Amino acid sequence: MPWYKDPLFGVVLLFVIIAIIGAIDFVRNRLRERRRIHSLENLKKSYEFLGIKDGVEEFLKLNQNATPTLEFIAQAYIQSGNIQEAIKIYTSMLNAHSATPSQDKVRILYALGVAHFQAGFLQRAKNTFLEIIKNSPRDLGSLIYLLRTYEKLNEYQNAIDVVDCLQEIYEQSGNIDDTKYLESLAYNRAYLQTMCLFADERSVFEDKVAKLESLRAQFPRLEKIILVYYKQYNLALFWQKAQESRNIENLLDVFWQTPDTEVPTEILTNQKIIEVYRARGLIESKQSLDSINKNVVCAKFELEAVRLLRTHTHFNADLHFEYRCSECKGIFPLESHRCPTCNALLSFEILCSVRENKDENRYSLL
Ligand SMILES: [Zn+2]
Repeated sequence: MPWYKDPLFGVVLLFVIIAIIGAIDFVRNRLRERRRIHSLENLKKSYEFLGIKDGVEEFLKLNQNATPTLEFIAQAYIQSGNIQEAIKIYTSMLNAHSATPSQDKVRILYALGVAHFQAGFLQRAKNTFLEIIKNSPRDLGSLIYLLRTYEKLNEYQNAIDVVDCLQEIYEQSGNIDDTKYLESLAYNRAYLQTMCLFADERSVFEDKVAKLESLRAQFPRLEKIILVYYKQYNLALFWQKAQESRNIENLLDVFWQTPDTEVPTEILTNQKIIEVYRARGLIESKQSLDSINKNVVCAKFELEAVRLLRTHTHFNADLHFEYRCSECKGIFPLESHRCPTCNALLSFEILCSVRENKDENRYSLL
């Protein structure tokens, strides 16, 4: 029998073919992996080429007076919302120019702190402003940003210390006729004390209420946040204090959004609050109108409109709320303690309008 007809030769040949295919596949995979790594390296190099950090350092080496140009570019990045790039520029400027005049350094540090604050890097913003204040303790801009940073970090006691510093600087300036500024500082301190009380987990609720009531009496604009706090922890106290309020209009959204089960219609005596629930149909459904008030008309236009639409038409009317800052007149969809535009404290007024409630929960997402 010839050797090529031997069955053992066929088996050996099969194994040889499998081994050759395996080797080719292995080599091909290695080549593919090498190409992939090479391509990643090229991509990385292309980013390095475009890297702003190197560009800034190169520019600073070439140009002795590069600071104004770089500050302008960083500002342009901030205006376009690309705060990360602005932070890279400011950081490179601080790293590259150890011999920068101290005034320039403070200005760049301040801009870096603001950029960190805007980007939400609050801890970095805090460290940057503290660094400035270490060298220039009377820098008002940095102190104001430090106050806002402490407030956002819930470090209220530190924020109160900053308000004290601002007041001291103001009193030492000799020009103490600006009552609006002093009032603003007093409100800031009272607001921060209120937030301290809210966050205090060691005090009992009754002790907090005594202090909060004292603050509410002195600073009426704190009323809403204090009443909302009561509503969370003691509903009966909320209704008791809400009925004594002189500014029911400012609480309209809170009343309107309170679920039916949390409204004690039988104890309500304040006509303005009764109107709210009459417009919503809650009082009519639970009690006879005559027992509350013979005059069933709501004095506020929007409430009366909702009541009439609900009573006499098939429309499901609802109130829609927006908030206007009394300082800058900006209008916002959500309420916040500080105006996002002008930073005014507790300056929001309620704007309400009548809208048709179209029950959006039933809309298909497709
Ligand atoms: Zn504002």
